[in-house]
Formats: sequence, C-alpha cells, structure tokens
Amino acid sequence: MQIPAYDILRANAPYREELLAATESVLDSGQLIMGDRLQQFEQDFAHYCGVSFCIGVGNGLEALTLSLLALGIGPGDEVLVPAFTFVATWLAVSQVGARPVPVDVRLDGLIDPTLLVGAITPRTRAILPVHLYGALADMDAIFAVAQRFELEVVEDAAQGHGARRNGKRAGSFGSAAAFSFYPTKNLGAIGDGGAICTSDANLASRIRRLRNYGSDQKYRHEIIGQNSRLDELQAAYLSVKLPHLEAVNRRRRSIAHRYSAALSSARILDIALPPPCPSSVWHQFVVRSSNRHHLKQVLAQHGVHTNIHYPVAPFDQPCFAGQYDRSKFPVAVQLAETVLSLPLGDYMSDDEVQHVIHSMLAIGGSLVAA
Ligand SMILES: *Cc1c(COP(=O)(O)O)cnc(C)c1O
Repeated sequence: MQIPAYDILRANAPYREELLAATESVLDSGQLIMGDRLQQFEQDFAHYCGVSFCIGVGNGLEALTLSLLALGIGPGDEVLVPAFTFVATWLAVSQVGARPVPVDVRLDGLIDPTLLVGAITPRTRAILPVHLYGALADMDAIFAVAQRFELEVVEDAAQGHGARRNGKRAGSFGSAAAFSFYPTKNLGAIGDGGAICTSDANLASRIRRLRNYGSDQKYRHEIIGQNSRLDELQAAYLSVKLPHLEAVNRRRRSIAHRYSAALSSARILDIALPPPCPSSVWHQFVVRSSNRHHLKQVLAQHGVHTNIHYPVAPFDQPCFAGQYDRSKFPVAVQLAETVLSLPLGDYMSDDEVQHVIHSMLAIGGSLVAA
C-alpha cells in the first residue's frame, strides 16, 4: 500500500463535476476578474469566519503583506513573528520594509506568549502569530500583551481555516487575518488564492483599494496600490468547496484522533506526539523524533510517505543569513531538526489510516531497539 503525504487528485476528486460546471459558468459569463463570484465568496467566507469583511487577494503571502501595509506598517517598524513557521510569515514583514523579530515557539510550534514582552522595543508595531498546523495560537495571552503595549495583532491563518475556540474562529481575532487557498490548505483553490478577513470597515476599504491599483473607482487611484486579486474562477472553485469545509475538518480531526489514540497507548520511545488540541483543524499531524531521518526512511519502505514542515527555520534561510542569533531560539532549532508530518487528508480510508498506524508501531520497536 502506497500512501502519499498528500494526494491532491483524491482531495479534489469529489468536487470534479461541480468544479467543471463552475469553470463553464465563469467562462460563459465573460466576467473573469472582480465579478459576482468573488463578491459571493467574500460574503460567504466572511460569514463563515464570523467577521464583517473578507477581501479576496492573489495568495497568502500577499494577504499578509496587504494587511501589514493597510495597517501602515513599514520601514523602521518591527513585527514579532514566531521563530518557527513557513518562511512566508517573515517574508511579508520584510516585503513591507519592516523587520521580522523572532519570538521562540513552544514545542507545539505556536508562538510562546511568555516570550513576547522580552522582544518588544520602541519600534514594535505588531504581533503576527501563526495558527501553525491548524491549531489556534494562544490568542488570549497574545492580546493581553498587545493591549498593554498598544500593538496590532495580525493573524497568519493560512493553516487555520475553520479552527475555533469558544465559538470564535481563526480569522476573527486580529485587526486583520490572512488566509491562503494554496491547493493543499484545508480550504484549497485550484491554483493560487488568498483572502483577508477583518471587521474594521476602514481597514477593509484600504485593503480593497490596495489590491486593485489603489483604486475603488475606475481610473481614480487614491493610493499606490498593487494588483493582487482573487480571480472569478478561483472564487467559484472556493465556493464549491467552502460548504464542505466543516466535513473536511471533521474527518481530518477524526484521523488525527485515531493517530493520537493508537500511538500514545503504544508509548513509542523517541516519538513525541502533538498535544491534544480541541481547537485544531489538523492542517498537519506532526510528530517529533530525534531519529527523524531513520523514521522517514523506514516509513517510506512501508509505503508511508511523509513531509517535513519545516526542515529549516526562517532565521537559517539564506535570505535572512547573518541577521539573527539562532542560539536564542532553541525550540525552533529543535523543531526544524525533529518534526515529521504523517499523511493526512480527509479522503484517506480507514484502512490507510490503519496502515500508517501499523507502520509507526512496527518502526517504534526498531527505534526502541536502536
Ligand atoms: C501557505 C502559507 C503561507 C503563504 O500562502 P501562499 O498562498 O502560498 O502565498 C503563509 N503562511 C503560512 C503559515 C502558510 O502555511
């Protein structure tokens, strides 16, 4: 049995007919950019997230940069970011001319709120927490600090579509929240896409202009804008998939629970499991092992293919070389060396889930022996 880390063909297969019908309807409408389908999706996704406004944009990175730009964050400013995340979180801060200031994470990969205050300087303008692997960052603790120091909070919700705590969803906590609809995200387009959620009307209208040449009226350009729009095809595809997001997340959660239950009762030496997390939509199921290389290889021999999110922390990337002292972020360094993402997709059959578990248990014995 071969189990890919993620199978995009199977993930999209249930929507094939509806996606083809959506393609035809956009093609025949002649409305390809900034039309009714975008408006409809923006309205539905805002409603789903529990915010007043959603602005569709080109991708997740641009959702982050436009959020920061709209908040007036730029050269001379500092933004607190998790020391461990997908590099795009940091790139967005650099793109607007500000400086990403890393804050180490906890072993679950989420920014450690107890370390925020120590990273604040007079230049700090915002905190940019990431809902890594689908689990909500500790927003209460983050807001306590943000309020005390009058900082903006922008959520990187690119891995958190639908994650919910006390009835509040990812995307509804910050001044603005950035989503990505990259095809492998919990809500994925058939290409690139992104969105910003906010309940601040002024911010929403700034972002609307920024994504469209600085204009909200044809041939009138109030500000220096960009071109970052969610096109009608992607909006139509996302509208096909959005009504199924809850079911997708439910299935992901149930697979994660099966992994957790089976693997924790076996207590495999040297494999740490993700902590239980009721808010999580399980974008990834990430274990940690100091034998990661061996674990990954032997799993592959069993037909179980895995990914590493992420093998290199942003401060160790060539584009940030020489700017940060990595010894200040020991947990990020440890995660980059030990994390391994097991296969996880809502399309997985119970047999496939069982095969992953059996393979882990079989290897667990060999790790103990090693
Ligand atoms: C995917 C992702 C992004 C970037 O989204 P794109 O649509 O690929 O630009 C940003 N942050 C995180 C945490 C992501 O996982």
